[in-house]
Amino acid sequence: MLGLSVRNHTGRKMEQNTRYGFVKVKCHECGNEQTIFGKASTEVKCLKCDAVLAVPRGGKAAIKAEILELL
Ligand SMILES: [Zn+2]
Repeated sequence: MLGLSVRNHTGRKMEQNTRYGFVKVKCHECGNEQTIFGKASTEVKCLKCDAVLAVPRGGKAAIKAEILELL
């Protein structure tokens, strides 16, 4: 859902990453709000309950929690 495919002027399909550095997320498990790095290269876990909030995927993180805000 994050990121959208667009075609540039050359018609070449390119992936446009949603530009986020830090993302404020809410843990599905315990409701803890936490700011994580959107391009995390390691798994990010909830500080409270240890649920996985984001997993690294192709240079950007796949967010597993509810995104509240892009910072
Ligand atoms: Zn949690």
